[in-house]
Amino acid sequence: MDRILRGHHLLCVHGFQGMGYSPEFVKEMDAIVKDIRNEEKEFQIKVVKDLDDTCQACPHNGGTICIASEGSNDHVKAMDGRVIEHLGLIENKTYSKSLLVEWTARLIQPEDLDHLCKGCSWLQYGVCKEGINKLKDSIPSKN
Ligand code: SF4
Repeated sequence: MDRILRGHHLLCVHGFQGMGYSPEFVKEMDAIVKDIRNEEKEFQIKVVKDLDDTCQACPHNGGTICIASEGSNDHVKAMDGRVIEHLGLIENKTYSKSLLVEWTARLIQPEDLDHLCKGCSWLQYGVCKEGINKLKDSIPSKN
């Protein structure tokens, strides 16, 4: 099944360890993460700066915007934009999963998350940087 993912979720999927905003969100995120980490699976991902597949199961989904808190929609869109730019992607374009994973491994350093994910409440736990490190280890030639 093809997917729609917002830019910053291209990073989140590598650090995800079962934490999330609600059981429904975690279930949806878990399914996407498993598909992305499964090397046997290939599918297309449309990269957006908007609500995506995981947002559909999020309790903070306001229909067309994120309503987690005041300013949260602008905040997540800014993260989307920074990740899309860093990876050299084009908003609303569709890419193969394997290519996006390879580019993430090649172009993102764990410390880049300090800037790319600035303001994200999950950053402090360290699991996301750990996830990027693991991804880079799994594709060593792309470091
Ligand atoms: S710090 Fe936040 S935005 Fe960045 S990868 Fe982790 S959960 Fe995603």
